Amino acid sequence: MSNREPGFETLAIHAGAQPDPATGARVTPIYQTTAFVFDDVDHAASLFGLQAFGNVYTRITNPTTAVLEERVAALEGGTAALATASGHGAQMLVFHALMQPGDEFVAGRKLYGGSINQFGHSFKHFGWNVKWADGLKPADFEKQITEKTKAIFIESLANPGGVIMDINGIAEVARKHHIPLIVDNTMATPYLCRPIEHGADIVVHSLTKFMGGHGNSMGGAIVDGGTFDWAKDDRFPVLTQPRPEYADMVLYETFGNFAFAIACRVMGLRDLGPSISPFNAFQILTGIETLPLRMQRHCDNGLAVAKFLDSHDKVEWVSYAGLEDDPYYELQQKYMPKGAGSVFSFGVKGGYDAGVKLVSSLEIFSHLANLGDTRSLVIHPSSTTHRQLDKEQQAAAGAGPDVVRLSIGIENVDDLIADLDQALNNT
Ligand SMILES: *Cc1c(COP(=O)(O)O)cnc(C)c1O
Repeated sequence: MSNREPGFETLAIHAGAQPDPATGARVTPIYQTTAFVFDDVDHAASLFGLQAFGNVYTRITNPTTAVLEERVAALEGGTAALATASGHGAQMLVFHALMQPGDEFVAGRKLYGGSINQFGHSFKHFGWNVKWADGLKPADFEKQITEKTKAIFIESLANPGGVIMDINGIAEVARKHHIPLIVDNTMATPYLCRPIEHGADIVVHSLTKFMGGHGNSMGGAIVDGGTFDWAKDDRFPVLTQPRPEYADMVLYETFGNFAFAIACRVMGLRDLGPSISPFNAFQILTGIETLPLRMQRHCDNGLAVAKFLDSHDKVEWVSYAGLEDDPYYELQQKYMPKGAGSVFSFGVKGGYDAGVKLVSSLEIFSHLANLGDTRSLVIHPSSTTHRQLDKEQQAAAGAGPDVVRLSIGIENVDDLIADLDQALNNT
């Protein structure tokens, strides 16, 4: 046996998976079952007490989902992962493990519109308060940190503008104040960027997007980097205080560098309940097998389309970090040199009306609220995903009236360019 560390492409296909022990099935089966039979009463007791790992009930663990979890952890270089029903479910469980009512976290403003809503509205019901950083520089994040701050949250490749965040710089701020850095790596995927290598402590995903990759299944994931010392002070009681429901077990003492993932599972999934269906886990696992091939093609097509738009008369500006004159080009070369992804925005001349006309004239591109599909997608954020936000918030989120967002698929790139050309000439 060779002692080579398997490469990313090999992990994408094999990590976490073995032929099924019961049947020999080579592809991970869909264990579409709610519950699992105990060996005996003692086995049941040890499972419920967290003294043994094993399957009890699919809300908390499932064998199909477990393969997905191991695979995502391997691809991100984390110690453990758990899958959730959606990306938003993952975000909710992360903060549930970190925050007490009245606590704060700092987030950048360049975020998925749904995350801006989740943080700004629904999290308030739990008493969790977001403080928005005024800019994207590490110092902008540091300025918002107070005694009550429990985390910093950023996206590696930020939605919707094609912005690359300075992960190392922001991780340094987090380390200095002893709070974990959470990175949403949905847009980049671990093929382009592995945030834990740049100082992130926790990675979250919407597996609904590029990871699953085919626009057919919702899912999310939390990856524990295993990097954070939860016991350095008493600010993270969920990890460092005895848990009465588990015979006063202290999760960090018992589970060490994967205690955070355990906390999200045995408190978050157990009590809040956003578990992924085994069928969706299966679909996403299949998608991940081709992640390296798809992502490279997404990036190559994205760059070609961005260059085309950059030279088009009807286009005011293009925001794509892969273009050499883009303000984020240097950060892209540092953090994701294989490509700048395939989700980016451009400004159409003629503002709101031209944006609306453009999305209705495209033929190959589908007008919808999703991204990271094999198919090319388009949306006009100010009339759709970002319409709940006021003008100022829209502008801050990079979703002004002229902004059109594209998610470039893996079709023939000349077909995509021809479609955009006819639609632009129609505005
Ligand atoms: C889609 C998305 C989410 C939310 O994920 P869901 O699976 O839709 O819940 C979070 N962050 C980013 C960057 C996304 O694109």
